[in-house]
Amino acid sequence: MAGIYIHIPFCKKACHYCNFHFSTTTYYRDEMLEAINKELVLQQSYLHNQTIHTIYFGGGTPSILPAGAIQTLLQTIREHYNVAPSPEITLEANPDDLLPGKLQELFDAGINRLSIGVQSFFEDDLQWMNRAHNADQALRCLQDAQRIGFSNISIDLIYGGPTLTDEAWKQNVHQAFALNIPHLSCYALTVEPGTALDHFINKKKIPAIDPDKAAKHFEMLMNWVEEAGYEHYEISNYAKPGMHSQHNSSYWKGMPYLGVGPSAHSYDGNSRQWNVANNQLYMQSIRQDTVPAEVETLSPAMKFNEYMMISLRTSRGTDLAYISEHFGEALRLDIETGSKPFITKGWMTTDGHFLRLTKEGKFFADGIAAEFFMED
Ligand code: SF4
Repeated sequence: MAGIYIHIPFCKKACHYCNFHFSTTTYYRDEMLEAINKELVLQQSYLHNQTIHTIYFGGGTPSILPAGAIQTLLQTIREHYNVAPSPEITLEANPDDLLPGKLQELFDAGINRLSIGVQSFFEDDLQWMNRAHNADQALRCLQDAQRIGFSNISIDLIYGGPTLTDEAWKQNVHQAFALNIPHLSCYALTVEPGTALDHFINKKKIPAIDPDKAAKHFEMLMNWVEEAGYEHYEISNYAKPGMHSQHNSSYWKGMPYLGVGPSAHSYDGNSRQWNVANNQLYMQSIRQDTVPAEVETLSPAMKFNEYMMISLRTSRGTDLAYISEHFGEALRLDIETGSKPFITKGWMTTDGHFLRLTKEGKFFADGIAAEFFMED
């Protein structure tokens, strides 16, 4: 069981908080698509013919592409990989791209899950973020997508931002509930170095992010989603029963995946590799039949630290039998001992088989995981 991720490195506008790899110049779009198609062929043995259960178009903004281009990429995957009969095929999309005609074409091309970058249903939030869409487009694209037949929809929302009041945050989340959106990905606004947001905060054009506000929004969110029947299955992800993201869940379970396109990462169970995050260098290299990737073989300590970091963020938790089997019984015992202070504080629980974060513990997820890290 494996997945394929395709990175489409183009966006209409640069959102002020974003540090992903993308370009707002699209004149070489067709050349890039040719390169990504070719990389899919060059990398066809990476997953050793394992069955592909999930395909994920991310970016950047994949919805910027015509549906025909998505169809061509899917065709290349089907010709060169062993694809399961009904794979989950997700497209990340922005509301301004999702007009009814385009939605229908994407549906017909085989996209069966949309992950839509709504971020907020309020104009003042969207404006400081420099999003390409407005609040009305955010609402209408969701209604149109559902009318056309997309039932598996996720939306991204950002909390803790400078213009987002507690009441507006409540309205954002409850708007998603009212629209019957089965999956939410909600992120605290973070200031990444070098972004426009970082610059504006340094210049005092935007107030600094208030961590207490973000923590309050997170707490409010956890209560609302619980009441509304969503499972908080990963620290930033909430789903109605049966509506988890299969693609992201397979990352969290440590399944192998191939990432194609500039800056895309791949994992084969033992090593990670990542493509150059530069569109021109990527295309040049692929033209010469070489995948421009750096490779890192994971040491046992790296694998363990990664497992702790990821597993503690999920509702399934850290599987003590898995630790014992893959890293040794001594480490399992260390972890049980190390978890005791957190259990006493009320930040962790255990049933003897799994360690899980409590609601309180989720505020400190990364810090708690780091306390268990091993050194090489
Ligand atoms: S659309 Fe997405 S990838 Fe593009 S700049 Fe905005 S947040 Fe970043």
